[in-house]
This record gives sequence, C-alpha cells and structure tokens, in this order.
Amino acid sequence: MTTVSFRRLWFSLTVLLLLFGGVAVELHGANVRIRYTWLQARRHVYLRDIASYYNLGYSVSDEQTVLSSRDGKRRLVFTHRKPMSSYNGVNFYLLYPTQAQGNQSFITEEDFRLTVDPLLRANALQAHPLRLILIDPGHGGKDLGGNTRSAREKEIVLATARRTAQLLRAKGYTVAMTRTGDADLSLKARTDLAARLGASLFISIHTNMASPAVSGLETFCMTPAGAASTHGGVKNEKEPGNTYDINNMALAFEIHRSILQRIKSVDRGVKRARFYVLRQVSCPAILIETGFLSNPAEGRRLQTVAHQQMVAEGIVEGVLRYHSALLRAAGK
Ligand SMILES: [Zn+2]
Repeated sequence: MTTVSFRRLWFSLTVLLLLFGGVAVELHGANVRIRYTWLQARRHVYLRDIASYYNLGYSVSDEQTVLSSRDGKRRLVFTHRKPMSSYNGVNFYLLYPTQAQGNQSFITEEDFRLTVDPLLRANALQAHPLRLILIDPGHGGKDLGGNTRSAREKEIVLATARRTAQLLRAKGYTVAMTRTGDADLSLKARTDLAARLGASLFISIHTNMASPAVSGLETFCMTPAGAASTHGGVKNEKEPGNTYDINNMALAFEIHRSILQRIKSVDRGVKRARFYVLRQVSCPAILIETGFLSNPAEGRRLQTVAHQQMVAEGIVEGVLRYHSALLRAAGK
C-alpha cells in the first residue's frame, strides 16, 4: 500500500491536471482517479471520485448526493446546488454550492481540500504544537454585546469562558483568557494578546441576536482567501487567519459537534466569516455563537449554569478530539 503525502498529491494534481484533466492516485491499495471539470468558471471535483478516495459508497438522487461507509459510521450528505452539507448529521457550509448534472455531482476543488478533507482525514491537518489555549469571552465593560431586558451577552460568555478554562486546565492544558473580569477590551487587544502569548488555539465565545423565532448554535472559522463568507462578501488577500485554513475547519467542526451532542439546539452549522479576531490571529481560531439571547426560550437557557457547563464541556471535548487528530497528523 502506498501512502501519498497530501501536500505532494495536490502539487501533482495541479501539475498533472494541466496535462490530463485528472490524476490517478494510489490509495488503500487501489487506484483512485480523481477527475476534474470546469463549472461556473471554477475547477470542480467529481463527488463520485471523492467517494472512492475515502472508500465510501456513492448515491445520487435529484436532490442530494450521499457518500457513506458500509458500517454507517461515516455519512456525508451534499444538497444539490446548495452550500449546506452535513457529516454524520452535523451541518457545515461549503464555500460554494454543489453542482449536479444527470447522475454526476461536484464540489469545488477548494471545498474538497479546505472544507471536506479536514473533516474526514486527520492526516490533512498541519502539525503544530499545542502549548497555550487562549479563551476569548466576547465584549466586556461598556460593550455589553447582545442585550435583552434580563440578560447580557458579556456576562454569559464570561461565565462560559471561565468554566471552559477551568475544565481545560483540569485536562492538563495551559490556558489564558483575554479577559477574566468585566473589562473593556478592543478586538486588537485580544489578537495582540494571542500573538504575545504565542497562543496555539484561539477560541472566542459569544451569544447571538436576531428576531425572536431564530435559535440555534453556529460556529465560525476564517474564510479562505478568495472565497466568500457564508453570509457574503469576498476578499482576496491572504490574512494571518489563513495560516491554518485546514485546521480552522477541523477545530470548528469538532467543537461544534461536541457542543451539539450535549445541548438540545438547532444546528445552524459550521460557517465561514472574516470576523476581526479570526482574521488577525495566526493560530487555528474559531468563534462560537452559543445560542440566541433574542429567542425567549434559548435566552433563558443560556443564562443557566447547566447550559454554560454543557457548552464548556463540549468545547473541551472538541479540543480533545482536535488534539488527537493533530497527534495522528504528526505521526503520518
Ligand atoms: Zn458577541
């Protein structure tokens, strides 16, 4: 069996693509040919080939394409012409909608490399040391964050962050917080602190606001250069936050799914955004919107110690899962 270094694989793909419009790769002892095609002026990969690449079954209907393992442990669902997808029942957004033609469906090469591969293959991760985890409770001081008659975001996220830090320390991690009290703190002060401390992970905790009917959990990581964020806007330059594009996605997904496993919440998915703190830190970073203060029921839940504890436990579990993926990647 031949193991292909993925970085080398992508390099060869780029080179060989120009010659053959696809490349045969040796995987799981079998020859897997990943074919490309141009759609909407972007290079797309056949989902059928991605299925073979991960040794998954492939089924396509009018509405969706499903990639699944025989034992049912791995199941990817792609909705045609939409970016919303799921892996083992947990939602995430592609950078670009899927494409479908007849019994073939496609995702962009960027999504294969930067969205899907980080979820399925620990070896895709970029190795880095895990020394200090910086927890960032949003807002503080004069900046109340989301605010309702009975609750303030700055207080809820501080309480959740404290619990998270405590639990991570109990697992043996070195942890710092951008604020430990009700301090005024600019976004720049937060990312400067990450640089000064040499943070290995940056986890920002927030609560959300919208109309009363909206509720649920969403987790953001940095948008790759040149792509649009989930809620729009394109910026082409590479930012410090793009240093770990692949790891950002893996960290976001592991923490998102670990929180969802603990709280009863609408799954609004792992999304992409260029929030200041995600853009300006050069370690893997995510921002969690733990729920909507503006939704009466969820707003009440967010204020309870039980809910904050479950969110904190979910974050810790996500970090542990990410860490073990990192260790597997380092041993590749
Ligand atoms: Zn906020």
